[in-house]
Amino acid sequence: MARIIDGNAVAARIREEVKAGLAGLKADFGVTPGLTVVIVGEDPASKVYVSRKHKACEELGIKSAVIRLPADIDEEALGAAVDSLNDDPAVHGILVQLPLPKHIDAEKVLDRIRPDKDVDGFHPLNVGRLAIGREALVPCTPHGVIRMLELEGIQIAGKRAVVIGRSNIVGKPMANLLLARNATVTVCHSRTPDLPAVTRQAEILVAAIGKPGFVTADMVAPGAVVIDVGINRVGDKLVGDVDFERVKEVAAAITPVPGGVGPLTIAMLLHNTVKAARLQLTK
Ligand code: NDP
Repeated sequence: MARIIDGNAVAARIREEVKAGLAGLKADFGVTPGLTVVIVGEDPASKVYVSRKHKACEELGIKSAVIRLPADIDEEALGAAVDSLNDDPAVHGILVQLPLPKHIDAEKVLDRIRPDKDVDGFHPLNVGRLAIGREALVPCTPHGVIRMLELEGIQIAGKRAVVIGRSNIVGKPMANLLLARNATVTVCHSRTPDLPAVTRQAEILVAAIGKPGFVTADMVAPGAVVIDVGINRVGDKLVGDVDFERVKEVAAAITPVPGGVGPLTIAMLLHNTVKAARLQLTK
């Protein structure tokens, strides 16, 4: 039976690190960092995420602001709002909550965020810096997975890691982060033939697919570490991409859903806000 990794406990440890980072910023520069989240329209899930982010900032003493813009705002007006945050020295982190309404080109808006304020790590400059192994602001969820593996004492170097999913938000940065820590990495997607044969090779298996219970026990090697990034609503329950009940009988360690990777994302957003502030203040 696998060890169940407690994501809330890992997130609490990351928040302690963030607190130390905040104290360092105060001591070195007399600065309390500020995060501004921009939300466009009335998407209910986005509202929940934004209020969670706001609360997490307040708890740690990060200055948090939310800018709410109407769903029918045009791209240029949204871009102008981003520009004014780029120019505001009290704002160290900018996050534009996705998804954006269909009439707005999200890429154009994200590209407009100053790379050193890009706490989501989605700007092409940060993506490129991560890919070539330079210091970067890194997407929160995959970075959280890495910190979880590290804090749980799970070795990455030299391990065979398989990532299912190649999105820009999770799969690709996850693969780059594992590679940077000297894992041997395979990335799978919907066109991968005989997926179970590949996933059975994994010593570390990361599932970021968006399909409930997709990873079954026969896809997992005995003793593997299984990280479930998926969040899927099934009826009134949240479930992951992994068939948790059966896979936990095979794996050495596994993250549950909820209570696994989920709590890490916001903790890493706080981490990125502190990191962004330090980047700007030491320029
Ligand atoms: P995307 O839909 O952007 O990407 C899904 C990936 O899964 C794609 O690369 C797709 O392949 C691949 N895939 C789909 N079907 C299959 C299949 N049958 N076999 C193999 N690969 C397949 O999703 P995200 O990366 O944004 O999110 C993934 C999951 O993680 C979702 O459940 C999401 O809710 C969750 N999530 C959780 C977060 C957290 O805080 N814990 C944060 C972000 C996401 P292809 O590219 O070929 O289409």
